[in-house]
Amino acid sequence: MRSGLSLIADAGADWVHLDVMDGRFVPSITFGHKMAADLRPHTKLPLDVHLMTVEPERLVGPFIEAGADWITFHIEACVHAHRLVQSLRAAGVRPGISIVPSTPVSAVEELLPDLDLVLVMTVNPGFGGQSLIPSCLEKVRRLVEFRERHRLGYLISVDGGVNRETMGAVASAGPDVLVMGSAFFSSKRPAAEVEAARAAFGEASSRKGA
Ligand code: ZN
Repeated sequence: MRSGLSLIADAGADWVHLDVMDGRFVPSITFGHKMAADLRPHTKLPLDVHLMTVEPERLVGPFIEAGADWITFHIEACVHAHRLVQSLRAAGVRPGISIVPSTPVSAVEELLPDLDLVLVMTVNPGFGGQSLIPSCLEKVRRLVEFRERHRLGYLISVDGGVNRETMGAVASAGPDVLVMGSAFFSSKRPAAEVEAARAAFGEASSRKGA
């Protein structure tokens, strides 16, 4: 895992995204807060924790202690999301909320002024290496529009199926963060994937500016 971390840093990525799966919210199980705590001393990059778990309110404490910089949980897994967002912020952690492909943006609309990040899942969460669902990019566009209309500051992150083939379309929808898993780790030269993502963003913003 340490070599995974240096791979990420050496490739020039900005964040380390940790997919926490509990075998209940999603079928797979990955790791818990101990892994985040073990990684923390070995990287200066922000730890971006994505909780794909039921009852995220029970898990955030240990992840805060582990040194997470960002914690994103799923709106589908939490009734009192507003309270959880406030407690993350009070603990000095940047709060994020994620939506699965079947959840509309309207499900988080009331919370958007309080969020630092919205993570749009572009595959059904649970496994790596799936194909991106193009209709999810419409949600990214809607979030961009809402942010502009209401002068809000949340970042929009896209997670799932981001690779060389899809990143142009993803970037042109206007997100701020692209999460890469399989495409990055299976690449012969992961730095090239990061460079390609930056180029896609550059092209998207010059198109926007034009
Ligand atoms: Zn993720």
